[in-house]
Amino acid sequence: MAARVRALEMILSEKGLIDPAAIDVIVDTYQNKVGPQNGARVVAKAWCDQTFADWLRSDATAAIASLGFTGRQGEHMRAVFNTPQTHNIVVCTLCSCYPWSVLGLPPVWYKSPPYRSRAVMDPRGVLEEFGVTLDKDIKIRFWDSTAELRYLVVPMRPAGSEEMSEDDLCTLVTRDSMIGTGLAELPR
Ligand code: FE
Repeated sequence: MAARVRALEMILSEKGLIDPAAIDVIVDTYQNKVGPQNGARVVAKAWCDQTFADWLRSDATAAIASLGFTGRQGEHMRAVFNTPQTHNIVVCTLCSCYPWSVLGLPPVWYKSPPYRSRAVMDPRGVLEEFGVTLDKDIKIRFWDSTAELRYLVVPMRPAGSEEMSEDDLCTLVTRDSMIGTGLAELPR
């Protein structure tokens, strides 16, 4: 795969169709600037600031953009909040749609056919494989991500984190907790 990408980049740049410096900017952006740390900031702020949480619930695109997280694959966002009764999971059954602006590039398993099919057929089995065991009476709700609308799961704020600052709370919000295949970490 790496060799094919290099070959393709070489041909395209020889033909003058792409600028290698522009490619470097894109790679740097998704390697260093855009990633789950953005989504973690959104979640931590929602945990600390009820007004922001309400805004996130009613207009996630605008609320997330107010923190500076916009751009490709994040133009239309919806935030879904976990509760003691309902656990939310995001999947793209069709392909691999994922909210790049808040989570960065998708993990390989998110794009894999086994996750995309089994997550829907056997959600508790898949969650177990991620190390998450949910109580039987917790309802699991799926959100099928599309090219038009992408989802951010807002995990529940863990017990024992009441005194933590927004910055410290960010460290508890894992990527998987914002896809729904994980939970927020417990404070040490
Ligand atoms: Fe997709």
